[in-house]
Amino acid sequence: MISVEAALGHLFDLMSPLGTEAVPLGAASGRVLAQPVTAHRDQPPFPTSVMDGYAVRSTDIRPGAVLRVVGEAAAGHEWSGALAPGAAVRIFTGAPVPSGADRVLIQEGATRDGETITVGPDPDTAPYIRAAGTDFRVGDRIMAPRRLKPSDLVLAAAMNAPHVICSRKPDVVVMSTGDELVMPGARPRPDQIIASNAFGLAALLENEGAVVRRLPIARDTCESLDTAFDLARGSDLIVTIGGASVGDHDLVKDVARTRGMTPSFYKVAMRPGKPLTAGMMGDTPLIGLPGNPVSAMVCGIIFVRPTLRAMMGLPAQAAPRHSATLASDIGPNGPREHYMRALLDGDAIRPFERQDSGLIGILAEANALLVRAPNAPALRAGSRVDYVAI
Ligand code: AMP
Ligand code: MG
Repeated sequence: MISVEAALGHLFDLMSPLGTEAVPLGAASGRVLAQPVTAHRDQPPFPTSVMDGYAVRSTDIRPGAVLRVVGEAAAGHEWSGALAPGAAVRIFTGAPVPSGADRVLIQEGATRDGETITVGPDPDTAPYIRAAGTDFRVGDRIMAPRRLKPSDLVLAAAMNAPHVICSRKPDVVVMSTGDELVMPGARPRPDQIIASNAFGLAALLENEGAVVRRLPIARDTCESLDTAFDLARGSDLIVTIGGASVGDHDLVKDVARTRGMTPSFYKVAMRPGKPLTAGMMGDTPLIGLPGNPVSAMVCGIIFVRPTLRAMMGLPAQAAPRHSATLASDIGPNGPREHYMRALLDGDAIRPFERQDSGLIGILAEANALLVRAPNAPALRAGSRVDYVAI
């Protein structure tokens, strides 16, 4: 049995980076940027008026001064002359400030009369001009890797990049295994169970940007598992569910081995989720999750999601941990790292009393996994503890 940290390290070692592809900006939200985006122009590209008013020369502005209005500049319609002394150009927000002007007199600061304006008694001294390049300059970059958020797309677009280079979306196969499983909506026999895990895992991984293929349920026979592995060909990651323990019907490892899987590890010192396994099937990494739904989801959060992020080029990091104040006493922990389903409310965290790994309902109610180190001592309410948000 190896530690959670060691297992995660092995998983990161199994992953090789995906290729990249050009993605149009309109489809790039949430994608992982693989190469920096470089600005092709300055922003703003010209000195820009940030108010409606009159472009003027500062030296002309004193209370009561009369200036001649010689033209108009609006957004997308520059006034291309040079401003002479004693002249003003009517200007609107977003318009290029004409050469010669060093200030925009806001429209409230002057009175217009035909072709002239008279400066008011107390003219505002702010220039109301945004200099060219104050936001970014040609060659400035959005650094990679990063997951593109909406405001990154604004910046990339303003840099005049119509598409961005992102990691390819990982093609992940999720394979349910078990003679007892039927799909939701079926009429199960009394000895059957609804296959539930694949839906949660697929959602977890799709939310990260994976394209998930849920395979038809494989039965606990070598033939059926063999067929499932055939269907998994060409994927970037195979995630199997169940059938990985040591019982007579747990054939996933055997079949994977006959197909040439090189095992990396088997069994992790954690609760829930001990029978986690991983290896390489040819060029494709395989993660074998326990069948128990709570264990499978916890392993999905603690192992598969960070692994997927690493594949997409994001930093190889464990699920981020935060700390909160324990709202109830808890007993000592055993030798395995324990991920306790818990409710986080503000800074207070309270583990559910029932931690039986068979309880999916409690997993669905939980919004955090309180992490207890192996052999951690009993703790009183008020102690600080670590958790992973879920
Ligand atoms: P296994 O790891 O195959 O021994 O399965 C452990 C437990 O998880 C058994 O009670 C299975 O019925 C259950 N199980 C296995 N796969 C799934 C699944 N895809 N959805 C729900 N329960 C499952
Ligand atoms: Mg099974």
